[in-house]
Amino acid sequence: MNRETFFYRPTTVRDVTAGRTVLEPDRHTLVDVIDKLDPRQEAILVRDYTIVPTVSEQGIPYTHGQNFLKRGPKVHLAQPRSMEDARQKCLSALISRAYALNNLDPHRFYSGVSWRSLRTRQRKEFHLVDILEGARIFAFAHQSSDTDDKLRIKIYTKTPNLQQQGGTFEVEVPSRSQEGRYSLTLHHVPLSRRDSFHRYSLWRELSGSGHGGGFTANGEKRKRVCSKTYDPVTFRDASRAEVYCPHEVAAFLHISQRVRETTGGVIRQPFPLPTQFIVDRYLTLKNNVLITGKKRSKITQKEYRVFSQLLLRQMIKRN
Ligand SMILES: [Zn+2]
Repeated sequence: MNRETFFYRPTTVRDVTAGRTVLEPDRHTLVDVIDKLDPRQEAILVRDYTIVPTVSEQGIPYTHGQNFLKRGPKVHLAQPRSMEDARQKCLSALISRAYALNNLDPHRFYSGVSWRSLRTRQRKEFHLVDILEGARIFAFAHQSSDTDDKLRIKIYTKTPNLQQQGGTFEVEVPSRSQEGRYSLTLHHVPLSRRDSFHRYSLWRELSGSGHGGGFTANGEKRKRVCSKTYDPVTFRDASRAEVYCPHEVAAFLHISQRVRETTGGVIRQPFPLPTQFIVDRYLTLKNNVLITGKKRSKITQKEYRVFSQLLLRQMIKRN
């Protein structure tokens, strides 16, 4: 399967509805309709109502869907006072997420998941859609027979204090839209042993740097196109959140797999691993659901992105 086929997404009403029964649920029944949808036979058009909140809880308008993703309320994971506190409470990423998801307010819209580094206090965030896209890139790299599409670990730096600092990996990640790969570095990859003092806190420190546009298949430098912004000056600025992008998620999955294959070790995952249920609903959203706005004649992809996120949040709770 090539890149275009793998990452294909219909973007016109005709492509989405082609030969399918078109359903037009209202905002109250939308999730239920998606839940029961037969992707081969049915498609959904969402018309004339706003999916994304237009104004924050403080009354400040969101300028567009992407702005909601950035500024909207996050699911905050429990924040330990110290590494010792994290260890005593066994606050792995998995347990922290389970606590937080059990306490979600069903009437609130969340735009992502967030926690703080214990060392720099920097806020870290991810959006569910980016986790799913990262998993798709990982799957594509493994299914493609073209060596240029593969994820690659270029350099692994074993830090002097691996248990405390984790590993540093330079990774190349295939692009979804064109040939070539992104290059990036992941720091503090939690390789600590099961009995390590840091096993419940190191995952909080994962960070990315040097995320450039990477190279084309011919080795030419590409212009950066990923939305992840990396500014070396503000990289350690604790007031600015680090938002993990799909390429970093894919890189992390690849490293996890490599470590498991070579050492039998299991890396603790800062990100959730999507279940088949979630992947199926996500593909339904991508392929069978189209938003058409009152004033817009075609989809706005940004709004679509948030839309996916909102629905998935509700679905996760059911799963
Ligand atoms: Zn990226």
